[in-house]
Amino acid sequence: MNVLVTGAGGFIGHHLVRRLKSEGHYVVGADRKAPEYEPSAADRFFNVDLRFKNQAELAFQSVGKYDEVYMLAANMGGMGFIETHKAEIMYDNTLISLNSLECAKNFGSGRVFFAGSACVYNTDLQTDHKSGGLSEEMAYPARAEPGYGWEKLYTEMLCQHYREDFGLETRVARLHNVYGELGAWRDGREKAPAAICRKVIMADRGGEVEIWGDGGQSRSFQYITDCIEGITRIIRGDYPHPLNLGSDQAVTINELFGLAMDIEKKQLTVSHIDGPLGVRSRNSDNSLIKKELGWAPSVPLERGLRNTYFWIKEQIEHCRSGGDIVDAASTLLDTTEGAL
Ligand code: NAD
Repeated sequence: MNVLVTGAGGFIGHHLVRRLKSEGHYVVGADRKAPEYEPSAADRFFNVDLRFKNQAELAFQSVGKYDEVYMLAANMGGMGFIETHKAEIMYDNTLISLNSLECAKNFGSGRVFFAGSACVYNTDLQTDHKSGGLSEEMAYPARAEPGYGWEKLYTEMLCQHYREDFGLETRVARLHNVYGELGAWRDGREKAPAAICRKVIMADRGGEVEIWGDGGQSRSFQYITDCIEGITRIIRGDYPHPLNLGSDQAVTINELFGLAMDIEKKQLTVSHIDGPLGVRSRNSDNSLIKKELGWAPSVPLERGLRNTYFWIKEQIEHCRSGGDIVDAASTLLDTTEGAL
């Protein structure tokens, strides 16, 4: 197949390109930046800004019709980023989504996958731990996460209307937190698992680490291999409405810290500081994806976190051996915690 991956320079997009290449497809990547940690496996890589229609057209026109288009490009980051960049995120991501769908329609793309988010769910339903997992109908009545979540909800609707009005075969996943190797870990866009691994690795034994809030906020985290498997199953499946794609193994941030400390048996004291927290509790209900696709994410958090931890440790050691320990360390300590 001919395949296009937007956001191919990002965490999930880069892993997805590798997967699609391993299946033998001709893969085109589009992004405004190259992958950070290793070269892209894509056959062609368009360095384009998808907020501009003429640049989006370059990527969509390049190989004739695409059998599959994966819309992963977005301006995003952890909670520290999305809570402080709402206007920029809505502006950028709306344009990226509009241009991508319009090009997919105009250039006769086959199936189109959109990376939506669990941030579309009604925030009133995520106020305590008794809320349970979020099932797909719980996005309405709508009260999405301000900024980022509202754009994702809007683009879900856009996907539905392009399907109904133009027959474009759109598929939507509501991704819950994804983590793993080759993801952001120190630039302020990292999420809780990477931020926590980094803090534990950098702390001296017996030392102290800071976490935002009381650490009682809970989330589920899906490992990158599950996420990639789910994306390919969803685009190739028949279910046209949004589906959760996430782990249903919820943990509190304190528990996540405990798991990270266990990896190298490092005992640290936790100090709780103020910071953006997001909703109190969020978990995926996987009933519908199991029913529709006979599959759901299953890699245990302990296993994925261990792989992520040792990859981040390697990055830190690399910074240190490169002689830029002072810079690296100050970047590391200055960045926001990232979160959820
Ligand atoms: P990422 O930030 O690593 O990748 C996104 C990529 O989009 C980046 O490489 C970025 O350069 C690119 N991009 C941003 N603006 C662009 C523009 N104007 N033109 C071209 N490219 C642009 O993020 P990710 O974790 O790989 O996420 C991929 C998708 O999945 C995003 O749409 C994100 O909203 C969604 N998602 C991710 C998570 C998660 O936990 N990682 C959770 C829910 C949803």
